[in-house]
Amino acid sequence: MPVTATATSPVDILVIGGGACGTLVARHLLDAGGLRVALAEARHAPGLGVAYATPRAEHLLNVNAARMSAFDARPDDFVDFLARHPQCAGLDPGELPGMFAPRRLYGAYLQTRLDQAPAGASLMRLGDAVVDLARAADGWLATLASGETIRARAVVLATGNQPGVLPCVEPGVDVVEAWDYASVAAIDADAAVCIVGAGLSMVDVLLSLHANGHRGAVTALSRNGLMPLAHAPGTVPQAGGVDALLPLGVRARMRLLRRWAAEATAQGRPWQDALERLRPHVRTLWQAWPEAEQRRFLRHAVRLWDIHRHRIAPDIAAVVAAMSADGRFVLHAGRLTRIAAHEGQCAIEWTPRGSAPATLTADVIVNATGMEKRLARMPGPLWDALRTGGLVRPGPLGLGVATADDGALIDARGRPVGGLWTLGANRIGDLWETIAMPELRGQTARVAAAAAAHVQAMSSHR
Ligand SMILES: Cc1cc2nc3c(=O)[nH]c(=O)nc-3n(C[C@H](O)[C@H](O)[C@H](O)COP(=O)(O)OP(=O)(O)OC[C@H]3O[C@@H](n4cnc5c(N)ncnc54)[C@H](O)[C@@H]3O)c2cc1C
Repeated sequence: MPVTATATSPVDILVIGGGACGTLVARHLLDAGGLRVALAEARHAPGLGVAYATPRAEHLLNVNAARMSAFDARPDDFVDFLARHPQCAGLDPGELPGMFAPRRLYGAYLQTRLDQAPAGASLMRLGDAVVDLARAADGWLATLASGETIRARAVVLATGNQPGVLPCVEPGVDVVEAWDYASVAAIDADAAVCIVGAGLSMVDVLLSLHANGHRGAVTALSRNGLMPLAHAPGTVPQAGGVDALLPLGVRARMRLLRRWAAEATAQGRPWQDALERLRPHVRTLWQAWPEAEQRRFLRHAVRLWDIHRHRIAPDIAAVVAAMSADGRFVLHAGRLTRIAAHEGQCAIEWTPRGSAPATLTADVIVNATGMEKRLARMPGPLWDALRTGGLVRPGPLGLGVATADDGALIDARGRPVGGLWTLGANRIGDLWETIAMPELRGQTARVAAAAAAHVQAMSSHR
C-alpha cells in the first residue's frame, strides 16, 4: 500500500488522531476503496494512542480478548491474532478468549490490521499534530504544527483521551504524567511517590512501580478513596430486565442494581454479572435521564459506577491487594488543596474526608487524574481553533462535544456541521458509554461509512 505523499496534496478524508479509533476509521475507509485518506497522528505510531502505546508487559487490557476484536463483523479477530502471535506460542488456545492480554499486543494488533488494508488503497500517514481546522471551498483546510496545510473533503476528529491537568500545583513542582510510561518507569526505586487519582491510570503506575521493585512508600490520593474492582472469571452476560431500570432515577437504579448483584451471588454467580447485564444498554439508560438526573449521577454515583464498571484483570487486582496488605501502598480519601516544593521534596496539602487539613510529603508526584472530559478545558491549539471557529458546542453537562446520532459535530449555533464527524471520548456527554473497544469498534465503522457517503455525494453533485 503506498503510504506517503506530500501534506499539500488534497485528500478525500482526513482522520485527525491515530489511536485505536482513528486507525480503525482509516482501515474502514481503505476497505471501502477509491478514497484518498490521510491519518494525522501527533505522538505515537498509528494504532497505539494513549492506551496501547505502553511498552510495559505488566499493563494488561482490562477487557478479555474475546471482547476486544476491532471489528463487529469478525468477533474472533483479536483472539485469532493472538493465536498466531509468537508471544502466545505455547499457550492453550482454549484459554486465549479469556486472557487479559498485554496492551502492547493490542497496539501491535491494530497496527497489523492497518497495514493489511487492501493493496492499492491510498493512505497518507502524517506524523504531526493538526493545530488548526477551518472550512474551505470544497471541504476543509487543516494546518499541521509544521506549518504545512492539507485540504480534505471530509474530516474525522479522532482525538481520543485528552490528558487532564493536575490542579493546585505551584511552580517548581515537577509532575510525572501517568500516561508518560517512560517517565513512570524511570522513577527512582527509593522515592516516596504520591499518585493523585485512584482509577485505572493509578493502577498502571502501581504496576510499573511493583515491576521495578519499588522500595519507597507509595500513596494515592483520591476524593473518595475508591479503587477499580476486579473482574470475576466466568462472568456471563445476562439478558433482560433492563427495561425496569429505564424509568428510574439514580437512587432507584442503584438500589435495583444492588439487588441484581445480591441475587447473582445468592445463585453462586459473581456480582459482576449484574454489570454485564447493563453494558449493552448504558447509552440508552444514560439518555433516558433528564439532565437534572444525569447531574445527580455525576454528583453522587459516578465514582461507584466507575469502580464497578471499569474493572481490572484478576492478576492485577492481586498485585494491588498485596501491595496494600504489606503497607507498600496506601490509598487516602480526601481533597487535594495544594502541592508545593518544600526542602527538596513536595508538600501535598489535603483535607482527609471528615477530618482536619493535613500535609503529606513525597519525592515524586504522579498525575493519574485521567482524561479531561469538559470541552471548555480541552487543551491544545486544535481545540482552541474549533471553539473559536464555532465548530463545536459542549455536550450535555458540558461533557465532550455535542453530536448528531451519526457522530456529526453540532456547531455553536446548534446545527450539524457538514463533513465533520467525531467518535469515542469526545461523545461522552451524549453517549456516556463511549470509552472502550466493545463500543468504539461499531462507532469506527459507522463514522467511516458516513464520511465515505459524504464524499461520494460530493462527487456525484459535481
Ligand atoms: C491507560 C488506558 C488503558 C485503557 N485500557 C483499555 C482496555 O484495556 N480495553 C479497552 O477497551 N479500552 C481501554 N482503554 C480505553 C481506550 O481509550 C480505548 O480503548 C481506545 O484506545 C481509545 O482510542 P482513541 O483513538 O479514541 O483515543 P486515544 O488512544 O487517546 O488516541 C487519540 C490519538 O489522537 C492523537 N491526537 C490528539 N489530538 C491530535 C491532533 N490535534 N493532531 C494529531 N493527533 C492528535 C493523540 O496523540 C492520540 O494518539 C484504556 C484507556 C486508557 C487511557
